[in-house]
Amino acid sequence: MKTLSGIQYCALGAVEGIGASAHYLKFDRWGILLDSGLDPHLPPSEGMPEFDLIKSDPVDAIIITHAHFDHIGSLPVAIQNFSQARVYMTPATMELTEKMLFHALQLQRRLGNSNATQLYDETFLDTIHYLYQTFDYLKPFPLHGKEESQLRFTFYDAGHILGSAGILIEWKGKRIFYTGNTRKSSQFILKGARYPEPPIDILISEATYGADPIAESIHRKTEIRRFAKRLSQHLQWGGIVLLPVFALGRTQEMIMLIHQLRLKNQIPVVPVYLGGLGLRINQIYDRLLHKVYPEYNHGTIRSMVFDRWDLSKKIQGPAILISTSGMMYQGSPSFEYARELVSSPRNAIFFVGYADPETPAGLFREQRIEALTQLLQVERIACAVEIFHFSAHSHRRELLAMVKKMKPKKVIYVHGDAPALKWMLEETQKMLPDSEVIIPPHGKRIDLLPSPGGRSLC
Ligand SMILES: [Zn+2]
Ligand SMILES: [Zn+2]
Repeated sequence: MKTLSGIQYCALGAVEGIGASAHYLKFDRWGILLDSGLDPHLPPSEGMPEFDLIKSDPVDAIIITHAHFDHIGSLPVAIQNFSQARVYMTPATMELTEKMLFHALQLQRRLGNSNATQLYDETFLDTIHYLYQTFDYLKPFPLHGKEESQLRFTFYDAGHILGSAGILIEWKGKRIFYTGNTRKSSQFILKGARYPEPPIDILISEATYGADPIAESIHRKTEIRRFAKRLSQHLQWGGIVLLPVFALGRTQEMIMLIHQLRLKNQIPVVPVYLGGLGLRINQIYDRLLHKVYPEYNHGTIRSMVFDRWDLSKKIQGPAILISTSGMMYQGSPSFEYARELVSSPRNAIFFVGYADPETPAGLFREQRIEALTQLLQVERIACAVEIFHFSAHSHRRELLAMVKKMKPKKVIYVHGDAPALKWMLEETQKMLPDSEVIIPPHGKRIDLLPSPGGRSLC
């Protein structure tokens, strides 16, 4: 049998929007799955990547870039489908992934979603641990037990959440880089992303903020001052300020911002309440952060939380409540608490990260009051709604600067809504006219490096 030599790509999950991230790369007769997410907008059984598209292909490794659910949610199912595959990730991503997957299962059980809990259970999650292999940033490693593949991988700090990584794949002189989710500038805890030196032949990049012209014009210090001022105002009025955020990443970054503002006496000291999963993630951050950042003071994040919070607890203002979900999905604690809070102008909801336009958080951000009053079943919305730009993603000019520096021959944009992908495509075409820019259709195989003699691998 003739040995083919080429690189193929196939998007198994959503490309448009923040759905299930799952990208298949085939190198000759070896296959790599980059991320194994689940679409957070859909029930688990419907939000899976289409693993069937590669059921006859090899999958030797699953590389997880970070532990957000849209990148790990289908990992147990991927492992069931591709039992030969090892799972590669950073040590922090492994701990966070285990915590997130267990939590998701418990949540589905509480919701009585038997479709989801039939896919796998806690015992299965325990038994797959042996497949996990962890590697630190900048430490190259081969494909386990298949060194003849000549594949070599290196994790680069992606600056998105604890443990997040971009992955450099080197194969027969070709260099492919997948950004995962990435943030170039520092956050309140995390430092910005590091990228491999050029040349990069093929770049697979996120495009989350491709359609956001505001993020790139925000001056961080001004934004922090505005946040402190607005927060102080509501707290001085005795109000409650709700921050709907992801439990992993945003929660810890916002706690650190509040900590820093308190140290500088820029906000009043009031109780900070936090819900369930965020507290457990805090423990992992506190335990592992100093390994990445030796200057981090052990326990800072945990020490900031005044009390555990759940929906049964009545909170007296002034107080800050940090709660999932960031998108304020119906039935989530942040959604339910918003009902109690919205009728008073003393209170406020502060949005500090990304939200899909069609989610309740998106409706708040776009001030679609009528839709919100119906959804929340309230008469009026009198609380303040403030939007701050403290994202865990690079803004689009930072992404373009990264692309320009790497000068890839091919760029694949994923993880953004349609206008975001379009903007990134057009700007990249103008900036690098000799490069091919691709928005991959879901499920279609693309030859990134055709085999010699022009024979197509599709
Ligand atoms: Zn993420
Ligand atoms: Zn993501």
